[in-house]
Amino acid sequence: MARRGAQDNRELEDGIQRVWIVDTHSHPFKFTRLTTSHLAGLLAIGGPAYESDGFKDLESLLVYKFLMRELSKLLGLESAKDPERVMEVRSELAERSFRDYVELLFERAGIKGLIIDDGYSEAGGEHALPYIEIGEFEKNLPKWVSVRYLHRIEPDIRRIFEESDSFSDFASGIEYSIEKFARDPRYVGFKSIIAYRTGLEVLWRSEEEARREFMECKKGYCEQAWFGPVARILREYVLSLVVEKCREHGRVVQIHTGIGDKDILLVKSFPHLLFPFLKDERVRKTKIVLVHGGYPNVVMTSYLANAFPNVYMDVSVATPFGLSNLENRIREALELAPASKIMYASDGYYTPEIHWVGAIAFRRAFATVLKELVSSEFLEVDDALEIAGRILYRNAAHVYSFEI
Ligand SMILES: [Zn+2]
Repeated sequence: MARRGAQDNRELEDGIQRVWIVDTHSHPFKFTRLTTSHLAGLLAIGGPAYESDGFKDLESLLVYKFLMRELSKLLGLESAKDPERVMEVRSELAERSFRDYVELLFERAGIKGLIIDDGYSEAGGEHALPYIEIGEFEKNLPKWVSVRYLHRIEPDIRRIFEESDSFSDFASGIEYSIEKFARDPRYVGFKSIIAYRTGLEVLWRSEEEARREFMECKKGYCEQAWFGPVARILREYVLSLVVEKCREHGRVVQIHTGIGDKDILLVKSFPHLLFPFLKDERVRKTKIVLVHGGYPNVVMTSYLANAFPNVYMDVSVATPFGLSNLENRIREALELAPASKIMYASDGYYTPEIHWVGAIAFRRAFATVLKELVSSEFLEVDDALEIAGRILYRNAAHVYSFEI
């Protein structure tokens, strides 16, 4: 019996290591000479609002320690005891040829595909997502890595609102943009961060309601925020249009759910708030991916992915930032969601080490969870391997119609 268990475990371990990964939610990266505090700052969720002394706190984050340890192994250093040295060796190697360095990271982590959010922060500031031109980004990727994009709608809403004198200008500007990206073969859908603007209690909005709000906002009667007019109805109208167009074009809509950067509307970002919208018949034929699995409300998201045939989820944020509890978050995702609706994602951004370490952490935690499910006789080894293949790779290819 014990021998059988050990053999099962080995088979699972090997199987999980062999499957390629498609990272279904991440951001572009670029070369930076990273220092320890810069890296630590990137690992603070919501951006580093820390003064220089505070970076010492961030350097005690589990994910920082893990990343440093794995990086020292990758670079052939004896230990991670001297993080300054690890970062120095890393930056020298990355500077020599960033492309080769990225290839090394992706090859070791087994990352074969990326679905990239093309969004950037509309205002700069402490936790801004930098604007990285996608042509520049692709130059740093190995040829064997496939990449597709999602177009973020909020920067368009802001720009087109500012450029439009009438509602019909606004509506046609938005429609033009949606059509353009829906037809672009490099793109597989759209991304909304409405949880950062007016929250997830989204309703399907009519053109008439949107027109009324647009006129009021143009007359200066609506509330202003740093990102422009609050304009809840208008934003929900645009999301409704995107959902409609994605149904026609067979594209995917990713919606941010759960915690996020510090400009998130925290109390309005939880996944259950989307329930009425997801229940609307007009939404039911479009593939919707709840990004970050509503972290930390992963079970609730798992329920939504169970209840609605068109709803999917990923497990980013738990990966790699919630390292100590990652195994449980994977269990929670599998708790109610069919395995065919869960996808791997890292939420990596800015520097490729986050994409890389996410893949390493996830494979490790996922192997533990699957081994346990097999040893409790909830699953056969074959079923467990099939689930691994789906979550790491095949679901992404299917959901995003992504040929790899
Ligand atoms: Zn993200």
